[in-house]
Amino acid sequence: MTATTSKPNFVLMGPPGCGKGTFCFYMTKQKGYHQICLGDIIRYHKKNNTDIGKSIAAKGGFVDDELAFGIIEQEVKDAVKSNRPFIVDGFPRTVPAYEFLNKVFQDLSIESTLTFIYFDIDDASCINRIDKRQVCFDCSAVFNSTTRIPKKELTCDHCGGKLDVRDGDDVAATVKRLAFYRENTEPLVETAKRKFKVIRIDATAPVEDCLKTYELLT
Ligand SMILES: [Zn+2]
Repeated sequence: MTATTSKPNFVLMGPPGCGKGTFCFYMTKQKGYHQICLGDIIRYHKKNNTDIGKSIAAKGGFVDDELAFGIIEQEVKDAVKSNRPFIVDGFPRTVPAYEFLNKVFQDLSIESTLTFIYFDIDDASCINRIDKRQVCFDCSAVFNSTTRIPKKELTCDHCGGKLDVRDGDDVAATVKRLAFYRENTEPLVETAKRKFKVIRIDATAPVEDCLKTYELLT
């Protein structure tokens, strides 16, 4: 690996279905990034029934801020310690979470290494994508049953893992998540601009165009 320390670290801001997963897949596989995805970490703990998984189950599946913030802080610290460029995905979603993350960056003196990526996309496009989304549970590759069809049905092109629909990837749940995002998360883009470099991506563009943009980021 060469000069990984000079690579920017990323925070992703975008609604469900905007292409954050594809961005992470590309950056982790092609550019050596470490992905810090709160949703994936929580899913891992639930699936493997770890102590954290058990405490989430005891609260009826609810993940409180204390737990979520603690996980993110540890992951960021570990990435910095091991000198790996990282991507924070799916966090922050609220003002307190943004402020917390900001403080973590401040304490580590890495604010200047951060670039926020704002995936700009309309609700209808997100709903359309999520409705047809299939995800590899082994390597996190993202497929779509109409636009990015896997070569073999329900099988990952990259690792041969099984493709499935993620929990909560139905239209009703997506509409709720979008409303939450527009109200609570999207305004944080303007807040981030005051302090961090923010890059807007036209997330309605075809994936090939998005990948060309990503190539230029590092
Ligand atoms: Zn896979």
